Amino acid sequence: MGVRIDPWDYRLVQEYDKLITVFGIQPIDNVEHYELLNHHFFKRRIVFGHRDLDKWLEALRKGERVAVLTGFMPSGTPHLGTAMVFEELKFFQSIGAHVKVVIADAEAYAVRREDRETTIKWGLEFIKHAIAWGVDPERAEFYFQTAMRDSYYRLIQMFSRKVTLAEMEAIYGDLSPAKVMSALTQVADILHLQLDEFGGYRYVLVPVGVDQDPHIRLARDVADRFEGELGLKRPSSTYHKLLRGLDGNKMSKSRPDFAIFLDDDEDVVKKKIAMALTGGRATAEEQRRLGGEPWKCMVYELYTYFLLSDEELKEITESCVKGGILCGECKRLAYSKLVEKLREHKKRYKEASEKINLDSIVKTPSF
Ligand code: SF4
Repeated sequence: MGVRIDPWDYRLVQEYDKLITVFGIQPIDNVEHYELLNHHFFKRRIVFGHRDLDKWLEALRKGERVAVLTGFMPSGTPHLGTAMVFEELKFFQSIGAHVKVVIADAEAYAVRREDRETTIKWGLEFIKHAIAWGVDPERAEFYFQTAMRDSYYRLIQMFSRKVTLAEMEAIYGDLSPAKVMSALTQVADILHLQLDEFGGYRYVLVPVGVDQDPHIRLARDVADRFEGELGLKRPSSTYHKLLRGLDGNKMSKSRPDFAIFLDDDEDVVKKKIAMALTGGRATAEEQRRLGGEPWKCMVYELYTYFLLSDEELKEITESCVKGGILCGECKRLAYSKLVEKLREHKKRYKEASEKINLDSIVKTPSF
């Protein structure tokens, strides 16, 4: 059996080079108009790959209308892994993209068997957190799958006509009816913006964690088959590495002790950082002599993804590998930086909760 990625699996996908070779994801370094990607996620190769990003950037450069679409299946407060997507949305808005965010409540109901009221409640919370993180609601649209119009559902029916189960199984592995429906709904999410009645955005970029690539591949195949009938173009995509939890496995809400949630209390953050896996040596003497191994360290991963400027990161890297800093001191620094970031976020979340009228920006499903 070939290599497969399962978008519904909670385990961590790594070996990013292999994904580039096996699935034809392009390395981010080679993209044309790379200079437009002035964000540390790109510079540090946290976003490591793409499909057809150059076409999307070229359209942006020419002043065409471009959009970014991404989705969430919320069932609790977002953690820092989710905030990576908020950060990307904020960046793409800053360079001129329209942003559309889907709350995948139909999928949460069918695949995760979540209760619908709970999904809606958490979906609205996610929207507030996205805004608090810096996504501008004036240049964004948010929607729940089950609140969409008939023509969106018509797309799902149309797509089902030109995809076989064998093709879907080749992409996803074993499928249940719920997963088939959810995958085709995701394809409608990715492609519907291209239709005039949904904005007519011909250039759509989908920034995702690499575990979501199966949906992108299916959407691109479907776009090819409906090029004549609906005028669809293949969507572009970018892929970020998955932020690891504090024990080195995937950051996930199902393992809360190893994830940093955006509403974590400061003493909880302190405890989590204190037990985080590091690349430190067995003894202080050894660490001073041999230096640490930051590439194995989850604290260093937090620094790289969220906490330090280029200059600060260079400094801490040198200190770590030369044994100039020990993990205890380093963790205290990480804690203070992280708490500062979360404090700012919580303040903005409170403001968003008080000032934003969610009813005016998202239609809540009725059932
Ligand atoms: S010194 Fe800091 S970066 Fe280096 S291994 Fe220890 S905690 Fe990680």
